[in-house]
Amino acid sequence: MVQNGVIQEVGPTRRLENLAIARHAVEINAAGRLVMPGFVDSHTHLAFPLGNRATSGSSGNVRTVSSPSRARLAARARAQVEAMARHGTTTVEVKTGCGPDENAETKLLRVLRTLKNDPIDLIPTFLFHLPGDGLCGAHDAAAEWVFRELLPKIRRGHLARFADLAWNANPTWHGRFSRYLQAARQLGFLCKIHADQVSTADAIRMAIEHLVVSIDHLEHASPGEVAMLAQSSTIATLLPATSFHAGTEFAPARELIDAGAAVALASNFNPRHTPALSMQTVVALACRHMRMTPEEAICAATINGAHALGRARSAGSLEIGKSADLLVLSVPDYHDMVHHFGSNLVHLTMKRGEIIYEEGEVAHLPVEQLRLCW
Ligand SMILES: [Zn+2]
Repeated sequence: MVQNGVIQEVGPTRRLENLAIARHAVEINAAGRLVMPGFVDSHTHLAFPLGNRATSGSSGNVRTVSSPSRARLAARARAQVEAMARHGTTTVEVKTGCGPDENAETKLLRVLRTLKNDPIDLIPTFLFHLPGDGLCGAHDAAAEWVFRELLPKIRRGHLARFADLAWNANPTWHGRFSRYLQAARQLGFLCKIHADQVSTADAIRMAIEHLVVSIDHLEHASPGEVAMLAQSSTIATLLPATSFHAGTEFAPARELIDAGAAVALASNFNPRHTPALSMQTVVALACRHMRMTPEEAICAATINGAHALGRARSAGSLEIGKSADLLVLSVPDYHDMVHHFGSNLVHLTMKRGEIIYEEGEVAHLPVEQLRLCW
């Protein structure tokens, strides 16, 4: 039962039908279908400036993010957000990460701000990674500039909630990484770490020391690193679509869960490395390739994702008082989501009590009704 965008009641149909609040309610018939919370995709790069994979390299990103207009970037990002909504995502995190170039970073963050909460919640993250190849001195100056100027500016403008760090295993950088996390926390950011490298022990240690909310990727985490993470409150955010697409190793989800770590699942969507934005696909891959059960994978893709974004009070589950972010899927049982790998099963997406997407009919359309989008 939903009122003013908030879940008021949850329970068996017969009980709800007898409540006073039900008298004037509009009924949505979901007979034979699955109703579940909207997906919370807690790790994406959807506002990637490039339209295809032809251009590459992180130094290239800075150039290209500066070139398209803000309106064009916003239109592209909006199209990706709408595609996500059609596939059942109702809350999404979006990272920057085009290098310490103020124009590129703040431009992307301002674009994200224009998209905020319409049609789904969008949570922006500033992603710091080392500048491209260059002299150490240039690195130092760039890092100092990020700590002293860019981070405070982003914070003052309320342009990002999270500060993420692209880890580098080279120990000469670890002192600076620690300072970055410290500076970000002092400014009031919540922190994350991208740990996709072979040795993640130092990254996990730093994540625990700085109370980061999530450490993401972890494809190469060793048993000792799994044990270390399981002792902490840091969430392990795993990205199986990335491993699937690259044909590389999957993160040790089973070991992490069995050791007691909190695991979230996310798409890592970006047009170049992981062009899959469907969290249904992510759940199916997690079950097939990381030995997660459907129950674990769905929790990881909803409520644990909400925890990884600091949104668990309002999103991630169908509970009284939470935002009415829910899906009706064209399967009778949640186990079928894993079986129907690769199809979009979303019949309806609801965000804050409003239907933002409903599956359409296949029909012959007269050519005059066709609209050009771009
Ligand atoms: Zn990523």
